Amino acid sequence: MSELHFILTIAAPTHCAILAFMSDARQQTHDAQAAGLCADCLHSRRIESAHGSVFILCNLSLSDPRFPKYPRLPVLSCDGYKKKP
Ligand code: SF4
Repeated sequence: MSELHFILTIAAPTHCAILAFMSDARQQTHDAQAAGLCADCLHSRRIESAHGSVFILCNLSLSDPRFPKYPRLPVLSCDGYKKKP
């Protein structure tokens, strides 16, 4: 059974709530588009906060100052990119 992700949007001024959901596969596609190259880079590590926020940590930043620890997403071009096998 696929997991569903719910998004609750409160629309002012009508104050009506819109509940939407995305399937797991659709959520993964959305995440990959939001992260750009980092989504499938060997050097990326996905970090999820206790509040559910998701960050991408670039492991190359630990040894090379040219790379930010938390790259601004989406990363569209990167000299360190290496596709995960
Ligand atoms: S090397 Fe580039 S593409 Fe890979 S995780 Fe770091 S910033 Fe993202």
